[in-house]
Amino acid sequence: MSALAIIDHAALAHNVGVLSARVAPAEVMLAVKADAYGHGMHEIASTALASGASSLAVLEIPAAVALRESGVDCQLFAWLHGVGSDFESAVSHRIDLGVSALWQLERIARASSRETPGRVHLKIDTGLHRNGALPEQWPELVTAARSLAERGLVTIEGIWSHLADASPDDDAHAVDAYAAALAIADELGVRPTMRHLAASSAGWREPRARYDAVRFGIAAYGISPFDDVTGQGMGLRAVMTLQCAVSTDEAPAGRRWITAGYADGVPLGARDAEVSIGGERCAVDSVELARTLTVVPDSIDDEAIVTVFGEPGTGVPSAEDWARWSGTIGDEIVTGVPRRVERRHDRVLSAPTTS
Ligand SMILES: *Cc1c(COP(=O)(O)O)cnc(C)c1O
Repeated sequence: MSALAIIDHAALAHNVGVLSARVAPAEVMLAVKADAYGHGMHEIASTALASGASSLAVLEIPAAVALRESGVDCQLFAWLHGVGSDFESAVSHRIDLGVSALWQLERIARASSRETPGRVHLKIDTGLHRNGALPEQWPELVTAARSLAERGLVTIEGIWSHLADASPDDDAHAVDAYAAALAIADELGVRPTMRHLAASSAGWREPRARYDAVRFGIAAYGISPFDDVTGQGMGLRAVMTLQCAVSTDEAPAGRRWITAGYADGVPLGARDAEVSIGGERCAVDSVELARTLTVVPDSIDDEAIVTVFGEPGTGVPSAEDWARWSGTIGDEIVTGVPRRVERRHDRVLSAPTTS
């Protein structure tokens, strides 16, 4: 075995349940961008939908189309578009599209017909400055969408924005800016059923930001978006466990190589990092491309399972521990496990059917 990423679908189902209960009656839109933060988009999508998520969000149209073509029937939201984006494909696959600018609206309208109208979610910039209509452009965007809707070419499904999560103060400001944009749209006669603003952080902590749906990403994978509380502290479970084996490569006394390196997602440049080998915490000495040198007691046998990260509270390091040791966020630890590492999906056992 080189490295293996075990994806625990019972943990994912648990997390989706916790998040749904927390934000109800708002719905959970699960962010499965970046191949579901490295966990596997298609597999995560099916368990999330079976566990209470009502819609899915990706970055770009092709990922949404891939989900639709695999048989996913729920609302699919994609918001990152460039001049080369295939709006025809998006419209024909009933993809909900984030719209930040008039040019996008025009392209979507051209791809639409009365039989198959484009489904749009208008985006207001509430301070993140990472696209979204600026407040001075907002009435024009809303008015343009309304006239396309009156012609039957689009349906205005949503109004949305994204919070910077820089500080609670910034978020409060952004919620106010969002409410102001909704009020302007309302005056212009546009009242969509899907108002969505928050991701994991504000969705968890700020009831005012929940509206009709919360776009949860990282928290669903069991990782906290906060500095002051862990995923475990939020009652969440780790979804990904990264394992490998003890290597037979010769190592200096008191050291052993393990069979995963930075090409398998072991972060390079972490300080004071540890792995669990046969249930014991062992310090990481140095990380190479495909192996890592660890400080190991002689008692460890060659068959011992090595856990780089996994479920906190079971004695193994967590992805959040690695994030701290590496000066990054847990998102980067799990998303950084490359595709070449095999995923093993441990699925929830389906309930026995009675008839
Ligand atoms: C990534 C993303 C999310 C999910 O964010 P988390 O912080 O991982 O919960 C939600 N909305 C948008 C627009 C995103 O880009």
